[in-house]
Formats: sequence, C-alpha cells, structure tokens
Amino acid sequence: MIEDMNPYPYTFDNKRYQTFNYYLKKTYGAKVAKVILDAHFTCPNRDGTKGIGGCAFCSNKGSGDANLFSKEDLKLQYLENKKIMQRKWDTELFIPYFQNFSNTYGPLDKIKMMIEEFIFQEEVVAIALATRSDCLDEEKITLLKKYSAIKPIWLELGIETSNDQTLEFLNRQERFEDFKKIAPLLEGANLKLCLHIINGLPYENEEMMLKTIQDLNRYHFSAIKIHMLHILKDTKLADIYQAKPFKLLSKDEYIAITIKQLERLKKDVIIERLSGDPIEKELVAPTWVLNKRQLLNDIDKKMKELDTYQGRLYEY
Ligand code: SF4
Repeated sequence: MIEDMNPYPYTFDNKRYQTFNYYLKKTYGAKVAKVILDAHFTCPNRDGTKGIGGCAFCSNKGSGDANLFSKEDLKLQYLENKKIMQRKWDTELFIPYFQNFSNTYGPLDKIKMMIEEFIFQEEVVAIALATRSDCLDEEKITLLKKYSAIKPIWLELGIETSNDQTLEFLNRQERFEDFKKIAPLLEGANLKLCLHIINGLPYENEEMMLKTIQDLNRYHFSAIKIHMLHILKDTKLADIYQAKPFKLLSKDEYIAITIKQLERLKKDVIIERLSGDPIEKELVAPTWVLNKRQLLNDIDKKMKELDTYQGRLYEY
C-alpha cells in the first residue's frame, strides 16, 4: 500500500529526512546526547569589534538559552548538564557542545583548553562548537583539524540567511560573503560543518528562504539546523516588532516552506533540528513554536501526505 511506503532511505521510522538521532545511532550504535556548555566567550558583534548590542534576535545569553549551570566551571557544567540529559535519555555517550556566543572568538590557548578538557574522555564521541564565519581563520581551522584526527569536531555556523539586506536589518554585522570566504578552508579541514538558518526573518518571502538553501548547496556541509524565527523579550527584535509588527509565519506556512527546503537539500545532509527551543516566559511571538512535538509531527504528516522526502528536488 502506497501510504505505508517511505521512499526516504536514511531513516528507521516514518521520518522523511535524516534526523541527527538517526545519524548518531547509525554511527555509534547507541543514543548520543549533546551536553550544553558555556565557555564564557563574547562575540565581535557585542564587544564593539564589529558592533555592539548583538544581532537583533539574540538574547543576552548569546543564543544559548538552556544551560542552567552556565556560571560554573566547564567540568561542573558538563557533569550537571550531563545528569539532566541522562534523566531524559538512557545514554552513556556525549557530545560536549559549546553553545553560547562565538566559541572560536578568542585565543588559541583557550580553544585548546576547552577541547582538551573533554576530547580524550571515552564517553565523548565528538566536540561541537558554535561560532560565526568571521571568527575563524587559517590558524584556528588548522588547530581544529588537528583535533579532528582524534574525534570529529563539529562546527556550528550561524548563517541565518544568505540575504545581505536581511542580515543588515538584523544588525548581524556579517555578510554571506564571510561564509563564502571561509567555506573552502573548512572543506579541506575534515571538520563536520552544521549550518544554522532561520525561517520567517523580517520581510523575507518564500523565494528568499529557498534561495538560502540553493546558495548553501554550493558548499560542502554535513548538517543543517532550521528553525522558525522566535522573538524573545528584551531583544532589539522585540522592540522593532512592538513598534512596527512585521508578518510572522503561521505554523502551516513554516511547514510548507521548510518542506520545500528539505526537498532541495542533499539527501544525506543531517537535519539537526527543525524547531527552536525558546523558554515560554521569555517568548514574545509566535507562540506556536512552543509545541515542538506537534510541529515535528505535523511536518512528518505533511511530507507523507505530499509523498515527498529530503533531497527529492536537490539540484546542484
Ligand atoms: S547571535 Fe551570535 S553573533 Fe549574533 S549577537 Fe548573538 S552571539 Fe553574537
């Protein structure tokens, strides 16, 4: 029966895209959990090097809102956040994930110390660092490449959109060109690249969001994170929205666009997330993003209804 057939190969359930969970279980034979860490960096868009005040959507926690123990030292943060993950999942394998701010924006010695604190532990299968393209250079990439010979190093790069006008509106102080410049260096460095984009950015239409995927498809990357723009309290974006509300995507619109993006991605790109993680009391809008499970179920349902799957329309 056609309704029982899933044509997408990289899955062990009804998903029609490759989840991170699927990739990790296939690679390590078990559930692996990411453990969020805050290494107390800042970023060039906050310390005045490029800008002050940060990107319009970013909270004062630097896009790392779920770490309860961020004030503690790294070892303690890891132990406490690992316990939280183990209450959720039965797992003994972990990826320390330096999430807050730009984790390659600092001296090489600090980056070395962060990585070496964890990379030799048996339970650690990889290390992940969130950063921006303009916080990477040849020296840092060479260092990360060295560690990638021991265990995979994931670099999570905030791209948000390939549209420079939107980036300017968001006070991102970075252009798509910054990624284009660094991409060839990253490709040669054996690093696992996860790109982060946001759908529903102010004044972006479907065409622009699909173009972001087309633009990214020209480069090599292993994974992508996509989520709906959520406006957080005490951000510049909240002020902009309150002064002059711009259109936010409805859940159905987000689902329709996201499915089109999945269809246009390479079949084997890992989809690390399709939902954001805002804390309810900090959220201004839209509220539908809070029900993550419903959103993911609705995406699965819609993909099945359309009989489509990741990579169906991929073109290079
Ligand atoms: S989103 Fe990243 S680059 Fe932008 S202000 Fe926040 S930490 Fe800095």
